[in-house]
Amino acid sequence: MTTLMTPGPTEVPPDVREAMGRQIQNPDVDPEFNVLYDELTGELARVYDTDDEVVVLGGEGMLGLEASVASLVDPGDEVLCLANGPFGEGFADFVELYDGEPIVYEASWRAGFDVDVVKDYLEANDIDVATMVHCETPTGLLNDLDEILDVLSDAGVITVVDAVSSLGGTPVPTTADVVIGASQKCFSAPPGLTTLSISDEAWAKIEATGTRSFYADLELWHDPDLDEPQAFPYTHLVSNCYGLEVALERLLEEGLASVYHRHETVAEECREMGAEIGLDPYPAEESLYSPTVTAFEIDSNASQVVEEVLTEHDIRLATGLGEIADDVIRVGHMGYAADGERVAETMDALADVLGD
Ligand SMILES: *Cc1c(COP(=O)(O)O)cnc(C)c1O
Repeated sequence: MTTLMTPGPTEVPPDVREAMGRQIQNPDVDPEFNVLYDELTGELARVYDTDDEVVVLGGEGMLGLEASVASLVDPGDEVLCLANGPFGEGFADFVELYDGEPIVYEASWRAGFDVDVVKDYLEANDIDVATMVHCETPTGLLNDLDEILDVLSDAGVITVVDAVSSLGGTPVPTTADVVIGASQKCFSAPPGLTTLSISDEAWAKIEATGTRSFYADLELWHDPDLDEPQAFPYTHLVSNCYGLEVALERLLEEGLASVYHRHETVAEECREMGAEIGLDPYPAEESLYSPTVTAFEIDSNASQVVEEVLTEHDIRLATGLGEIADDVIRVGHMGYAADGERVAETMDALADVLGD
């Protein structure tokens, strides 16, 4: 079996796979499913470290991004999109799709955001919503968003954070209004579920916003009556929920502090082994390195190196995305793959291929 070291989807451990294969309940009529949903959202709130309501939607992480914009942005709303990577830029496309007005703060893909620039945007515009990305998976950059979130909240702006590739691997911002996660990154469950924590302020904006979607409408998920059958707008992805249940148990049994420490440690080991073979991480500063994924800059053709690591060592890595597709090699050390031995094997394989 090929070892999957991509930055999501990540390799799924055996007990999560077994849970996915269980005989299913009918989630529309069996009250036990509502109990499971209640448990899932409660456990996720611990991972989010929030008292805000958490919802779990049937759909890949991208649904969380689209649903946030579809549910929060009215036509003509001004949306500040903080972009220092492909996912940050992508938010602006969703805003346009839903007839909002994206105002894009384009920063270098190697650097973080400047809070003073955010203040300038706030002064010059009438911003309703702001979107940003915690971990830019394509560049291996973890944004420190706390100060920016405070400034935006003080200005009454509803904030949306894509934490798809950080939630469950490192602490995520707790002061954002909406924080998006997904099953297939640090939780190491298969793709299929998207998770959102949503503040009361965000729910108020969602309720005030006109509905232009059914599947991507968050309002239908607010405060489900779990004492009744058919609490959800459509049949839930019950097998995926079984998988996520076990994935969350694994995480909480290990303890979040230990999980986060494990990610920090393997990320550091990965960078050290990279340095030994002359590879530097893509972000400009050490404080921006993500504990869940490392993007190494590379002189040679990235897709060819990734191919050789696969054929010669049976380990699958990822290239970059978009304009840096061929300039970086990415090692996903998140979730089940945040393991010292796996990372060491991976970096040995990379050293071997690059040494040839
Ligand atoms: C994986 C990921 C998503 C979901 O996107 P896919 O390309 O469909 O996997 C969204 N945001 C971030 C930051 C991600 O890493």
